[in-house]
Amino acid sequence: MMELSDEYKKLVREVLECKKCRLWKSRKNAVPGEGSLNTKIMFIGEAPGRMEDLEGRPFVGAAGKLLTELLSSIGLRRSEVYITNLIKCRPPQNRDPLPDEVEACSPYLDRQIELLMPKLIVTLGRHSTKYILSKCGIRVTSISRVRGRVFSIRVNDVSIKVIPTYHPAAALYNPKMRNILEEDFKKVVKREVDSLSSTKKVSIENFF
Ligand code: URA
Ligand code: SF4
Repeated sequence: MMELSDEYKKLVREVLECKKCRLWKSRKNAVPGEGSLNTKIMFIGEAPGRMEDLEGRPFVGAAGKLLTELLSSIGLRRSEVYITNLIKCRPPQNRDPLPDEVEACSPYLDRQIELLMPKLIVTLGRHSTKYILSKCGIRVTSISRVRGRVFSIRVNDVSIKVIPTYHPAAALYNPKMRNILEEDFKKVVKREVDSLSSTKKVSIENFF
């Protein structure tokens, strides 16, 4: 049986070389994701933007700065959580991901979830929210109806909580939306993280 870290490295290599949809042609770098592999919390955005494509890292542009601030507002550092996207390569002009791109790329996200088995997934924006909530049979017609609510999906017979919220990019120039994001992030309070991590210290070996 491969170690989590080996499985993870394999996945990263596959993403970096992937040509399963048209987006590989225009990317500078694929962006697999980053953070702690032992974390209880995974954040899922939409797709890399310009800065992310250049650096090969998720959420390093303006929206990323806000995400980092939101995390800090609930006492979390980026290195304590795992941050990734539904789509691993930048769509040209940051257009919405197309359905066939989601279909081609989402197996990577599914594998990341199965490898890390977080206790909580926070979906940022309507694309990742739609994709993740489809796993518990919820059809998202509008993100405003589901944001800030707690859902639950089952992955390999284990229940994972899901809290959808708006995409940080939407809040960059909209103070009202920023307040809502802050409110939703408060649900991911450190108290909960602490209580989760004190129940059982999950080491890489415990996954197998
Ligand atoms: N927006 C996203 O959805 N993901 C990123 O990584 C950056 C901006
Ligand atoms: Fe592969 Fe996903 Fe990049 Fe498409 S977006 S080339 S499926 S990694």
